[in-house]
Amino acid sequence: MESGQPLGAYELLETMKGVGSQKPPTVYRTLDWLTKMGLVRRVASLSKFVARHAGDDCDDVAYLLCRNCGQARVVDIAPFGQVLSETAQSLNFKQEDIVIEVTGLCDRKDCRDPLS
Ligand SMILES: [Zn+2]
Repeated sequence: MESGQPLGAYELLETMKGVGSQKPPTVYRTLDWLTKMGLVRRVASLSKFVARHAGDDCDDVAYLLCRNCGQARVVDIAPFGQVLSETAQSLNFKQEDIVIEVTGLCDRKDCRDPLS
């Protein structure tokens, strides 16, 4: 799957010039639209976004977030997401979204744990 630095709202829109408006009153409406169109994913705990790449057609994903360098890796968790959805359904819970974020340290050579 993909990995990269999660971007704030304005940073993301700067990389997507020509898609929607960058004016402050509509920036979050534009991000909602980009999310609904499947062009970006929201990293809830960071209030940031990652762009989706060609071939990224997974609906159920988790984010692996490096606490040192800030990289976000998106991983497919389809079987796990299906189990969660079935559990929610069995409890008559109307699921809207599943957000799973895992924090830790990535394996990039230039990312070293500052605590070690
Ligand atoms: Zn890292």
